[in-house]
Formats: sequence, structure tokens, C-alpha cells
Amino acid sequence: MSFKDNVNLHVDKSAKLLNFSDDLLEHLKSIHSLIKVNVGVVLDGKINNFTGWRAVHSEHILPTKGGLRYSETVDQDDTEALASLMTYKCAIVNIPFGGAKGGLKINPKNYTMPQLREITKAFASKLINKGFISPALNVPAPDVGTSEREMEWILETYKTLKPDDINYRGCVTGKPLHRGGIAGRTEATGRGIEEVVREIFRHEDVVKEAGLKNELKDNEIIVQGFGNVGSNLAKHLYNRDNAKIIAIGEYDGYLYNKKGIDINALIEFYKTNKTINNPKLGKFKNNPSELLELDCDILIPAALENAITIDNVDKIKTKLIIEAANGPISFEADQKLFEKGVMIIPDIYVNAGGVVVSYFEWVKDISHIRFGRVEKRFQEQKILDIIDLIDKKTNTKTDFDTIKKIIHGADEEDLAFSGLEDSMR
Ligand code: GLU
Repeated sequence: MSFKDNVNLHVDKSAKLLNFSDDLLEHLKSIHSLIKVNVGVVLDGKINNFTGWRAVHSEHILPTKGGLRYSETVDQDDTEALASLMTYKCAIVNIPFGGAKGGLKINPKNYTMPQLREITKAFASKLINKGFISPALNVPAPDVGTSEREMEWILETYKTLKPDDINYRGCVTGKPLHRGGIAGRTEATGRGIEEVVREIFRHEDVVKEAGLKNELKDNEIIVQGFGNVGSNLAKHLYNRDNAKIIAIGEYDGYLYNKKGIDINALIEFYKTNKTINNPKLGKFKNNPSELLELDCDILIPAALENAITIDNVDKIKTKLIIEAANGPISFEADQKLFEKGVMIIPDIYVNAGGVVVSYFEWVKDISHIRFGRVEKRFQEQKILDIIDLIDKKTNTKTDFDTIKKIIHGADEEDLAFSGLEDSMR
């Protein structure tokens, strides 16, 4: 069964519970527009051909929003399925975007940086010229295999092709800070997932129902994936919540330490060695699929879709699964886990932190106001008014300059994250 079929089965099930009519359901599942492009790029004197897609699932609110993926496994069906997840994701956290997704069939590891730049510019040019990248209609962001680097290249391409678009900086999110990006966007997805884990432990009844230990720090956690999402999630859980992460998985194996892995040391090690295989931090096992079958309290698949399927679902031994990746559990496996009483928190809510902070970035870009300036003015005035009132009633005199300094100390990242926490609640 394809990934798209799996996603649609979830939609069918939800529509039934909500008593949606068949025509509405059919409309809901349809892709509003789609482009397939073939780009030829001359590299080392030879034409290299690449195929890419951009799918717009729903234009009910514009612009549409969603990542751009670079992977050898990208195809039209997966792109459409991922676009539909973006619609539901934005809706669940009340972010006013329709859903979209794009992808280029490529293994970025096989190309040099200047070659990837050429390829990205060629791909982006096609999408821009056909209206599939634009601040008003369709706004990509990083996804698997892309990062702020690719977003900057797309922005450069857009600016060249549309020199009179005053909102050009809003054509992509997840850009570098110096190109109109927002502080904290890179960490936002991981940090949003941390917020989901925290939220669970704010509800005693949910903790009890899942069979977890009362305190977050007393539960054994496993994270699959140490890319942008997995590593930032692990970093925040470890440093801010004292979490015990007993295993981390990557495509080539997993690192296990029953006492808990030192995540800061692993991040440092990974930066230079590009592997999690560090015998000083745990035992490395060359069997990536075994990771999901280990005993733990909380399992967080943060890699790719279909990590848990009918083939391995019976071997899963956890109490709670947090879907950090997009679609990591197949429909059938999901049903089986439900019957077994394993609690699952779904991807469209869990990993929405990225698009929440993307929204703040886009708003900043199209409003042409340095983010935080207006909010701070309002906040400052409100706080000063209240203090003034208290001063009058209590006959005291507060030092307003110190208060102003404290307010101005709150930076863009604080503001973006307070918005994120708000949206995830
Ligand atoms: N690629 C991310 C996702 O799947 C972020 C999308 C965005 O910020 O537009 O949610």
C-alpha cells in the first residue's frame, strides 16, 4: 500500500467520524494543483536530467505552505500525500496556510555544493515561472535533504526573476537570518515536539492512561533519526527537561545506553564525524530496524514515513509513540497499536512547530516590519501603564528605565517561541 493510500485511509476514517458527505470527502482528498518538471542541468559538460514536483493540496487559504524535499525516493504520490498532511497540520495549529509540498528526485550527497546550487536554481526557476513559488501563492521551506542553504538559493532566483515584487523575501521560509529568516526556525520543529512531550506531562490523566511514569525525566525515551528534527528534539529534551534518552537511531545503526546518552557530547561528535557511532557514549549496533523494537516508555520516530508497518508492529514494545516524522506509522499498524492500547500522538500536530515559526517568518517578511518591534511597543506600553497604576495606588516610584531594559531584552527568538508554545497548546 502506498504512503498516499495510508494517508487517505486516515482521512476516510476521520471523515466518517465527522459525518462528512462523500462529495465533500472526495473534494477534501483531491489535489488542487500539481506541477511536474524536468530540468536539464549541464554539469561537467554533460546534461543531467532531474524530475521534480510541487503539489498544492488545498488552496482554501493562500498562500499554500510546505517543505521542499531532495531525495532519491521522491515521487508524485508521496509529494501529494505530504502536501495533504500540510493542510491538516496548518489547520490543527490554526496557521492560515493551505497545504503544499515539493520534491526533487536526487541524492544530494552525489553532488558538489556549486552543482547543487545550479540544480536548485534551475528547479526553482521552473516553479517560479509557473506560479508554484511565490509569497502570495506558494511558499516552500526546508524538508528532508534541504536546509536554509537551498532556501537562500531559491530566494536569489526569485529576486532575479521577479525584481518588482516588494514581498520577495516571503517567497520561502527557513532562510538564513541575514536574508530575512527568523531566529529559531531551524530548531523550531524539534522544539515544538519537545513542547508536545511537555504538554503530555501537564495532564496527569493522559500520563496515567498511557501507563507512563509521572515525571518526564523518569521515562525511557528512544529517538529514531538524528537529522535536524531528531537532534534538536533530543538536545532540548536532554537540556531543558533532563530527559533520559536511552537510544538514538540513524540509517546505519543505533546507539544504546541504558543510563541515558549524553546528547550534548553526541551532537559535538556528530558535527565532526557525521556518525553517531561513538563507543564512549554508548553501544553502537549495526542494525537500524532493531531500534524500534527495543523496550522503552516513549518512542519517537523522527526520520521518514512508514517506519512502523504491519511487518514490525507486533514487535513494538512502548507505551507512547510521538510521530515526529511525517507519516511514520502505516494505517494498518496504527490500528493494531490502537487495539494494543499504545497511545499515539499524530504527526500533523506533533511536528507542526516548524510551520508555526515559518508563519512568523513569512508575516515578518511581508509586513516589512522588523519582527518584535511592534509587539514590544504594545507590551511595553501595557506593562508601563500597569506599573504606573500600581505606583499611584501604593504611592511608590518604580525605576522605568530598568523595566524598559528588561522588556527590550526579549529577542526575536523568545517571541517566536512564545508564539510556538501558544500554538501547540
Ligand atoms: N517541512 C516542514 C514540514 O513538513 C516545514 C514546512 C514549512 O515550514 O512550510 O512541516
